Amino acid sequence: MYNATITKIIQMNNKLREFTIKLDEGDPSFLAGQFSVIGLQTPEGTTVKRAYSIVSAPQDGDRHFYIVLKYTKDKYDSEARPRALTPLLFDAKEGDRIFLSPRAVGHFTLNLAKEAKQLLFIATGTGLAPFRGMLRSYPEILKTHKIALLHGVRHSNDLGYRDEFTTLAQANSKNFFYIPIVSQEDSWMGQKGRTGNVLSSNTIETFFGKSFSAETHAFFCGNPRMIEEGFKILEEKGIPSPNLHKEVQ
Ligand SMILES: Cc1cc2nc3c(=O)[nH]c(=O)nc-3n(C[C@H](O)[C@H](O)[C@H](O)COP(=O)(O)OP(=O)(O)OC[C@H]3O[C@@H](n4cnc5c(N)ncnc54)[C@H](O)[C@@H]3O)c2cc1C
Repeated sequence: MYNATITKIIQMNNKLREFTIKLDEGDPSFLAGQFSVIGLQTPEGTTVKRAYSIVSAPQDGDRHFYIVLKYTKDKYDSEARPRALTPLLFDAKEGDRIFLSPRAVGHFTLNLAKEAKQLLFIATGTGLAPFRGMLRSYPEILKTHKIALLHGVRHSNDLGYRDEFTTLAQANSKNFFYIPIVSQEDSWMGQKGRTGNVLSSNTIETFFGKSFSAETHAFFCGNPRMIEEGFKILEEKGIPSPNLHKEVQ
């Protein structure tokens, strides 16, 4: 059943990790925005598989994944069946064997926005993954497009890749706008609340220097309620619904 190896694990906080997984054979390439299926055998011998967006770019070689532990130790119920995957995955070590779907799949790619001049990337939690893949895969869009990346989380230490995006925004201050948004931390000095608050305001249009239009495409990934609210706000702001794209995690 196992056809791959976990080659690297980066602990980002107590429940967020980046996993690099190397296929035994075959071409690991993919289109940024796509996802793969990861699987592990349970102690009972059954198999549990789940879908994960790829957080790296094809040129990074083996696929990287940005994964949150759904049932932390304090909430974990060892009797629950069928078993959840993430507690098993977070017990795994570098060098352990694992299942990874040879092909990456999904249509949540920039092929959906070939005519775009403005791009909105709106994520909650690990929904950030496909957008990091897209920005790493197509660095040229930082010169040719106006881009806003909104990342909504509960606590600031859940802001994965924060330094990377802050540096990218400083280096591309005319075209790339990174907005980390924290909903449950009084001491947070940045944007507070939810992604919907920012979308409802004129913050992004002010950065873009113009209103949203048929040249604007918006990609949403993460919490289904966040997506539903965001679609409504942007449709009211004149973005045609064919220009709104989503991946529910
Ligand atoms: C296209 C797509 C892309 C995705 N990309 C990502 C990504 O990039 N990163 C990411 O983190 N996630 C991503 N996800 C979500 C991911 O697929 C899983 O849903 C998520 O990781 C949770 O899986 P799980 O098996 O741990 O938990 P669940 O799917 O919630 O497991 C359900 C099982 O858990 C058991 N259970 C219930 N309560 C408990 C408990 N307290 N303790 C132990 N077990 C319990 C039940 O028996 C139930 O069968 C994506 C999903 C999709 C559809």
